[in-house]
Amino acid sequence: MTIAVSPPANALPSHSLRDAAPRPLCTDCGVSRMEDPKACGRACQFIAPDYPALEARVHGRARDAARPDELHFGPFLALHRAALKQPRTGAQWTGITTRLAETLLETGAVDGVLTMRPDEDDPWKPVPVIVTRAQDMALCRGMRMGYAPLLALLEPARAMGLKRIAVIAIPCQTYALRALEAELGFDAITVIGTPCSDNTTTEKFHAFLDLLDEKPETITYLEFRADYHVELRFADGRKRAIPFLQLPISKLPADFFPLTCRTCVDYTNVLADITVGYMGGEGRQWLIVRNERGRALLAALGDEVELSTPGSAGKRAGAVKGFIANTRRAAGGLPLRRMPGWLRPLIGWLMPRVGPRGLEFARTRVEMKAAETVIHLAREEPARAKRMIPAHVWALVEPYGLTRESLGIQGEARRQE
Ligand SMILES: Cc1cc2nc3c(=O)[nH]c(=O)nc-3n(C[C@H](O)[C@H](O)[C@H](O)COP(=O)(O)OP(=O)(O)OC[C@H]3O[C@@H](n4cnc5c(N)ncnc54)[C@H](O)[C@@H]3O)c2cc1C
Ligand code: SF4
Ligand code: SF4
Repeated sequence: MTIAVSPPANALPSHSLRDAAPRPLCTDCGVSRMEDPKACGRACQFIAPDYPALEARVHGRARDAARPDELHFGPFLALHRAALKQPRTGAQWTGITTRLAETLLETGAVDGVLTMRPDEDDPWKPVPVIVTRAQDMALCRGMRMGYAPLLALLEPARAMGLKRIAVIAIPCQTYALRALEAELGFDAITVIGTPCSDNTTTEKFHAFLDLLDEKPETITYLEFRADYHVELRFADGRKRAIPFLQLPISKLPADFFPLTCRTCVDYTNVLADITVGYMGGEGRQWLIVRNERGRALLAALGDEVELSTPGSAGKRAGAVKGFIANTRRAAGGLPLRRMPGWLRPLIGWLMPRVGPRGLEFARTRVEMKAAETVIHLAREEPARAKRMIPAHVWALVEPYGLTRESLGIQGEARRQE
């Protein structure tokens, strides 16, 4: 059963924000628009992140590479496949993210939630908002492509007298939030995180939609599914699934993905209390419960949510090696090695059946992202690579021969586990 919602238009006003300060590698998380824009120096994932210290502060311990899957997914207490028994209309998957935040507001556990609603004129564009009524969370469901200055709302939220807040954030926003958390003056901040990768500006994303359909303005939903298909939904209710191999990626301009989103170092949002994604979910949602606060959040949903143990099948090494070879060619300005047209439907049919699935799919994607990070940073920002790439990212790519030495990066990461 799907629950219908018909929220009132414009129920969530946007806030007027200061201009962003110019920064070289920046996803405008909002910190540069705060009273002290210099806070970026302490907060930014793209300068010199210290994941072990922040993991220890937020979760009580840093990731432990000896525990299964922590090297890939960060510290956690439990992994689940999950679905709301009553999926919500307009949600990206079944709406667990929104429901967690709604529950926090309904029970009075938080005074407000910082998240994104769609722009009135462009539903793909995220607009940061402060939500204080549980019923307004429905206005924010669904994924928008792009980034927007979510953390610029921290100061207005404090000025409104909100003491306990929740923030729904993508990883580069979560890092800055956690880095500044102690100085923000809130009594408690709960972070509901989603994974994030391959993001770009909303403006550039429209160029991708233009390549996918003759009437891009009718596309209302897009998701990269774990079965190697992109799902599109249209305003008239139609759905279309396109195999990854048949996506027009090679037609995108070289600068389609900004350097930030090719090189960020935290795919799975390791500093959130709970991460809500899909990669390890084999068609369902995938939850990473990271600490006791995250455990309590999930428990508050009671039997509204169906949980099961994530599966894992297939082997990732071949797929990751192929990805690395292509990424190196692309980073060097060479054309991608493309599979012959006749072979693509066959491989497209085989991949969901014999390729990495479940947790192995999630590990595959995390390793690919780590490889992309080190290759692009080594080439485009070698000085920054020294400080920006944490030790765990090097550990993920070392089995594929990607090391500081092989990439010509001198020096150590700022802090080693
Ligand atoms: C740009 C992007 C890339 C992603 N890539 C992956 C991926 O590679 N693998 C994976 O497992 N999951 C990824 N996700 C997360 C995934 O798409 C779902 O959002 C997540 O699984 C939650 O589904 P849901 O039904 O619980 O969300 P819903 O209940 O529909 O809630 C979604 C929440 O996300 C917020 N949101 C939407 N767009 C943005 C945005 N651009 N920035 C910040 N917040 C936003 C909404 O305001 C809402 O609060 C990505 C999300 C984004 C925004
Ligand atoms: S991403 Fe955020 S913290 Fe980093 S430079 Fe941009 S505004 Fe500052
Ligand atoms: S891909 Fe990385 S840098 Fe880009 S928006 Fe997502 S978390 Fe931020």
